Amino acid sequence: MTDNESLSKTKLSLGALLTEGKTKWVYQRAGNNEQVIVVSKDDITAGDGAKHDIIPNKGRIANQTTCNNFRLLRACGLAVGFIEQLDDLSFAAPNCRMLPYEVVVRREAHGSFLKRSPHLSKGQLFPRLIVELFLKTKGRRWKQHELVCDDPLMTYSDGAEALLLFHPGTPHAEPFLKLPVTEVFAHSTESTLFAEMNRIARHAFLVLEKAWQLEGQRLVDFKVEFGLDKQGHLLLADVIDNDSWRVVENDRYIDKQLYRDGGAIDDVVASYRRVADITGRFRIPSQRIILWRGSESDSTDAFSRALAGLDSLMVVVTRSAHKEPIATALLLQKMLQEVPDTVVVAYIGRSNGAGPTLAANAMVPVITVPASAKEFPDDVWSSLRAPSKVPVLTVLEPANAMLAALQMLACRNPLIYARLRMELEERMVNTVQI
Ligand code: 5GP
Repeated sequence: MTDNESLSKTKLSLGALLTEGKTKWVYQRAGNNEQVIVVSKDDITAGDGAKHDIIPNKGRIANQTTCNNFRLLRACGLAVGFIEQLDDLSFAAPNCRMLPYEVVVRREAHGSFLKRSPHLSKGQLFPRLIVELFLKTKGRRWKQHELVCDDPLMTYSDGAEALLLFHPGTPHAEPFLKLPVTEVFAHSTESTLFAEMNRIARHAFLVLEKAWQLEGQRLVDFKVEFGLDKQGHLLLADVIDNDSWRVVENDRYIDKQLYRDGGAIDDVVASYRRVADITGRFRIPSQRIILWRGSESDSTDAFSRALAGLDSLMVVVTRSAHKEPIATALLLQKMLQEVPDTVVVAYIGRSNGAGPTLAANAMVPVITVPASAKEFPDDVWSSLRAPSKVPVLTVLEPANAMLAALQMLACRNPLIYARLRMELEERMVNTVQI
């Protein structure tokens, strides 16, 4: 489809122009009050508009990237402001009241963070994600207040009467302005949204972090925005394209930082195109946990509980490897043919032959849980003292076995990775002074 054909298709559904930004237009969707159409432009800007170029096809590339990202995030259970891609240049989104914040999540120190914390080296790793808020402003004004800069860093503590604004490009000092919350929040309850925005932004970051890891690059930070739909639901909205993040490949940025740093336009275009292609591969893989038990009397409850909402990953097989060795081998091969990316958890009592046997005959990890170890601790030896070339792993607690299985799958799965890592993040500590 040519640009003109693509645009004319979009135009058919466009209602009134609601807002125009540097890189996109937002239109009412004709005949549908609850939806808008976001159309990407070919413009690229940096330094708050100080640098500006038109890149042919940038709009298509940006739209493709945003749609790919939102499709993955939605598939991972996030509430996103994305309904459907309409064509090369546009997508439909719920009509939201956009909140005036940029929410930045960082895994490493880059960009403005280094200006605020100049004692850190570029790329300093944060095992615990850092989340920052910036107030979106234009013309160095917020209502009647003159500001020292646009998009200042903002902090807010629960219950506080003012938001504190800081210059984002200098080390933290005193705030340059204390802005009463009543001048920012539409409702007094709006402060409760900060915790939710923080959680959703970190969750989204983790999904995309894994998606990028699988492609061999590092997502080091990103910026997202939020809106409230007509029903008041908080949605991760706006766009997430190659302008929104920093992605590092072999110590080189492949995102808008290339452009900010004065890269040749041809290199910028090639990089943007490549990023759009890569995000087209973002997906949730087909995976499975086989819970293999020896008898109906071995309860699966503890295993299901440990999956906490990821139950659809688990298939229970009840078959004794002692009594039906051939049927066991055939069934295992058939199931791995169906879903090769599997982890087997063998929950077997007494003489646990199935765990080691399954491990010796499959190219997937097998974790064995000795079911009768509490009453007969010696039973663990049939899993532990395995012959050579029998790579069975033994875990006593069902919940830990399931967690280990999920972690193995999480290596290749953004959805599982983000769920597990959200919990782990709470226990992570950044030891560097910020
Ligand atoms: P920094 O604060 O380090 O300059 O940027 C943090 C992250 O937010 C980076 O991934 C950067 O690309 C993104 N970011 C910062 N400001 C903007 C903005 O105005 N628009 C977009 N699209 N992304 C931004």
